[in-house]
Amino acid sequence: MITLQVDLGERSYPIHIGPDLIGRAELVLSRLPGSQVLIVSNETVAPLYLDRVAAMFPDQQVDTVILPDGEEFKTLETTQRIFDALLAQRHNRTTTLVALGGGVVGDICGFAAACYQRGVAFIQVPTTLLAQVDSSVGGKTGVNHPLGKNMIGAFHQPRCVIIDTRTLDTLDDRQLSAGLAEVIKYGLIRDAGFFAWLEENLERLRARDQSALAEAIERSCRNKAEVVAADEYEAGCRALLNLGHTFGHAIEAGMGYGTWLHGEAVAAGMLLAADLSVRQGLLDPDAVARIRSLLERAGLPVRVPALMTVDRFLELMAVDKKVLDGRLRLVLLRAIGDAVVTSEVNPDHLVATIEAWRA
Ligand code: NAD
Ligand code: MG
Repeated sequence: MITLQVDLGERSYPIHIGPDLIGRAELVLSRLPGSQVLIVSNETVAPLYLDRVAAMFPDQQVDTVILPDGEEFKTLETTQRIFDALLAQRHNRTTTLVALGGGVVGDICGFAAACYQRGVAFIQVPTTLLAQVDSSVGGKTGVNHPLGKNMIGAFHQPRCVIIDTRTLDTLDDRQLSAGLAEVIKYGLIRDAGFFAWLEENLERLRARDQSALAEAIERSCRNKAEVVAADEYEAGCRALLNLGHTFGHAIEAGMGYGTWLHGEAVAAGMLLAADLSVRQGLLDPDAVARIRSLLERAGLPVRVPALMTVDRFLELMAVDKKVLDGRLRLVLLRAIGDAVVTSEVNPDHLVATIEAWRA
């Protein structure tokens, strides 16, 4: 087992990473302020892992809420079901909410924990690679509104995070690849050594080699934790974590949410950002070939759908190519492992980049 400490002063917490951690009660018991626990999961993950998670709390009052599976249920209405259960079962201010599932369950459960009686403890047991390397670090919680994703939320740090790498055995290949996009992102924005390690070890990750997974997750969480520790409330360098995301969000929205997974859209978006970086004179073209090859080996898309025309992209990125100056802030690369935020994007370069990668 690897333990990583996220340093946030009195809100610091450990992330434990390794195989078969679900069931190791000693990891969670010292983090509970009281004797009540509410486990929140969904109908896909609960049958796989709920019993073993519940067994980690033998001397506590343990209640459960099982949500329907899907991003469309990441809403206030769903959050209300958690409050209903907490109140019906008389949970007090020392209760602990446990999120067992992917990023959707983690975001809803964390948000409920941030709100219930103005904030109670919560523990994350993330079970997708994306949730393990991304949403479990950083303290962002929240739900969607019909008018916007993640628009209702709070910053609320967990008491601890339990990452059992064996849970990835039941995750389907496409979801695993989507998580790898965010893993590769950390190498690209600030860790050239990690990017090179991924070039050596990518097939081991896709084969769910437990020690390779633990190392990739640890290095990803460490990178994200360092960025978050420097900028907990997103006033500065935390923006680098958005590499590929402006293009990616346009693809997700343009194709209809759910058609492309977030990680898939981010993968194509990172390639666009790299290509644009070359056109802007920031990045060596050889880097683009390396990035493309690694994304392909990860099972991720390296083309933009033909449906995504230049005009569609610009519309969805809320920019007008005639008046681009200063309005579009993008994360670009100066090298693999060195990202920069810039608002000096040449509109001709942007158009050429989109055209170059359309299928
Ligand atoms: P998800 O939670 O929808 O999980 C993907 C699918 O995998 C679901 O069907 C889920 O039930 C299933 N699943 C989960 N674990 C499994 C397992 N071990 N075995 C089999 N199936 C399993 O999606 P996600 O990609 O984990 O998370 C996406 C969400 O995370 C989005 O809502 C996004 O906004 C949020 N997010 C939050 C942050 C943050 O900082 N809070 C960061 C990134 C993403
Ligand atoms: Mg992301």
